[in-house]
Parts: sequence; structure tokens; C-alpha cells
Amino acid sequence: MSIQLNSVSHHFGQHRVLADISLSLQDGEILCILGPSGSGKSTLLRIIAGLEPMQSGDITLDTALMANSAHSPPPEQRPIGLVFQDHALFPHLTVAQNVAFGLGRLAAAQRDQIVGQLLERVGLAALAQRYPHTLSGGQQQRIALIRALAPRPRVMLLDEPFASVDTPLRRQLRQDARQELKQAGTTTIMVTHDPEEAMAMADRILALVEGETVQFDRPEALWRQPAHRFVAETIAGLQTLRGRVAGDYIATAFGKLATDRVRGAAALTNGQAVTLGVRGSSVSIAEEVTAPAARAAVEDIRFDGMHWTALVKHEDQQLRFVLDHESQVQTGGLVALSFTDADAILYS
Ligand code: ADP
Ligand code: MG
Repeated sequence: MSIQLNSVSHHFGQHRVLADISLSLQDGEILCILGPSGSGKSTLLRIIAGLEPMQSGDITLDTALMANSAHSPPPEQRPIGLVFQDHALFPHLTVAQNVAFGLGRLAAAQRDQIVGQLLERVGLAALAQRYPHTLSGGQQQRIALIRALAPRPRVMLLDEPFASVDTPLRRQLRQDARQELKQAGTTTIMVTHDPEEAMAMADRILALVEGETVQFDRPEALWRQPAHRFVAETIAGLQTLRGRVAGDYIATAFGKLATDRVRGAAALTNGQAVTLGVRGSSVSIAEEVTAPAARAAVEDIRFDGMHWTALVKHEDQQLRFVLDHESQVQTGGLVALSFTDADAILYS
């Protein structure tokens, strides 16, 4: 089922928490809404679920109106499944009874069959008769997900469903969840503040900052062409530097970047102060030292799992970049850097 949001805005008192959010998802597509804490992610999900009354805009499923400010059916009248971080399982029901909860309309034999199949698929059939408090956090989240999937909702809404689970298990859970959702063909909107989670789960990502959409695109597009500082820093891993326009260059504490390599730098005036996002992979140690000001002190050398990296500092600014090998520089030494294939972005 496709879902469209058209110009959804929301206020709490005078405080505008969502501004004109529009999006359209195809049947079976997984969207992640990524944003910092307080950016309005949960509010948007609650509006779609029918837990928060709509103030303006509308939501359509396929082409039929589901909700607007005049018509807002309660959650149970929407073809939607919900999993929230704190959406606990019913403590007095067994795992099997929890999963069967939304299947009340079916005959008992059919219900048992569906529950059995779902538990089997996530490898938790052995837990069917246990009570939730005897399960680990990860097991409980798996059960919560299949409980929500059991009635075959056309749209699934997930709000930070793995936030309370430790990292290695969280990776496994989201991989399994993506597989489950794709297999069921469920159109999904998942909220997260974790960029790694969004990259791992999403067909498309909507980046939300202070209630506004700053980018809505495929993960690769956010990584390659971040349209906003939040996306640049979280998804693309760009580092922020101050600079000043000097002719055809932007001078930074760590070296010069040609303005024609800096996206968004067309309308600059000479001497203007700017803020840039740069990739650590575009920095290298210069062959020659050109200007004493462009020397940086090596603070630390670290191995990140793939590369050796060096952290350099100049006054209050810092930059991390990839080394060719561990002993290319020494901690405490001075280096001059150059921006080789500078693929940088201008923020202001
Ligand atoms: P997120 O899920 O991205 O962390 P929320 O949607 O929970 O953000 O909250 C967005 C903003 O709206 C925050 O400033 C929050 O304090 C505020 N807010 C959320 N719910 C309510 C409410 N029921 N009443 C008043 N303010 C709220
Ligand atoms: Mg939230």
C-alpha cells in the first residue's frame, strides 16, 4: 500500500514542531525518518498512527483519504501496525498469546498456525509458552515486531524500536526486521536518531531538523550529496571547518581549498567568513610546506578498523584524516596538509 503525506504541520501551543511535511512512499518501501532528539519524529509518527489529532494537511493510503483535520479515525481503524521503544508486551500473556493478540477475528486453529509460523521464522518457537519478563530485551523486541506484523498491516510504524538493545544485537535485529518487512511487503516508516540504523534499514531517508524536511532521498544520495549540515555530519561523516574566501580559494587553518571544488560556493565575496564541511578522505599530507600557518599539530593517531587516522589541531579547530600507514606521522609532530580531491560543502 502506498502512503502519502501532504503538507502536514503541527503545533504544541505556540511551538511549531512540524512544518509542511510531504512525502510519498511506494508499496513495500521502507522509509527511515532520521533526526536529532526533539526534531518532531515521534510526533509525525503519532499523527500517522492516529494517536495525535491532525491539525493541518492530509494523509492518503493508495489514493483514499485516511485522515485530515476534519476526519481522524482512531488507531484501531487504520490498517497500521505499531512498534514503539516502550511499547511493552502484555506481561500477563504468554509470547504466543501476545503474538495472537491482533488475530482475534480468526478461528483458533488458523490463529495458532500463523503464530507458530511467525515464531518459527524468527527462531523463537521455543519461547511460545514463556512470559515476557523471562525474555531478553532483544527477544522482546523481536516478539513485539512479529506481534505487529501478525495481522498483516498494510503500513508499519516503528519508533526507535531497537533503542534499548545493545549494539551487536541491534545490528542483527534491524537486519532481521528489514528482511521480515520486505518479505511481508509492508510499507514501513521507522523513526531513528541513529544514522547507522537509517543507512542499514532504509530504502529512503527523510532527514528532519527542527520539524522541517532537510533532505528526502536514497541513502547513497544523502551520503554523496548531503543537503544540510546535519546530514553531512551524521550520515556523510563530514567534518566542520571555518574558512575565509581568498580569491579563488578558501583558506582554512589546515590548508586551502579551490572554491570550484566547494559545493554552494558560487556567490562568495572576497574575505567572507564561511563554514565548510570536508571529508577526511580528501585530506593528505602535503609534499611541501607552503605556508607556516597551514601547519597542524598531530594530537593523536588511531586505528578505526579500516585505516590509520590522525587527529590534528590548530587553535580551537580539529580535523581527522586517513594516513597511508601508521608511521606516516608522529604524535606531537607538525604537518602541513593539502586538500587533494576536495569534495567539500559550504554551510554558510
Ligand atoms: P523526537 O521524537 O524527534 O525526539 P518529538 O516529536 O517527541 O521529537 O517532540 C518534538 C517537540 O515537541 C519537542 O520539542 C517536544 O518537547 C515537543 N512535544 C512532544 N510532545 C508534546 C506534547 N504532548 N505537548 C507539548 N509538547 C510536546
Ligand atoms: Mg521520539
